[in-house]
Amino acid sequence: MKVALNYSNKINKIRTFALSLIFIGFGVMYLGILVKNVAWLMVIFFILGLLCIVFSTVVYFWIGLLSTRAIQIICPSCEKPTKLLGRVDACMHCKQPLTMDKNLEGVEFDEKYNSKEYRKELREKDSK
Ligand SMILES: [Zn+2]
Repeated sequence: MKVALNYSNKINKIRTFALSLIFIGFGVMYLGILVKNVAWLMVIFFILGLLCIVFSTVVYFWIGLLSTRAIQIICPSCEKPTKLLGRVDACMHCKQPLTMDKNLEGVEFDEKYNSKEYRKELREKDSK
């Protein structure tokens, strides 16, 4: 579980980023209202806020494009449909690290099975 916490689904990550951009945009525009006595400062805040929101729309559009390229699979861990981006990605629901690369999967398993800790575990299980 400790390892799984370091992983986060890429599409979810970008979506969170786009959403936070919208909030930052509105926050900056709110600052513009607060300094409405200084016209040029207000205009700058409003433009910055608008840029954040426009950029967030672009990011959302980009997520749409990425989603069509992502591979949809059923997560073997929580059995919910999830989208994978790239070679290694995490499940959207349970953050289970998943890979589409069979070679990578093999290497990971080999490493785990060859590690001393894992062998020790096996031996301890056998002795019980
Ligand atoms: Zn899952």
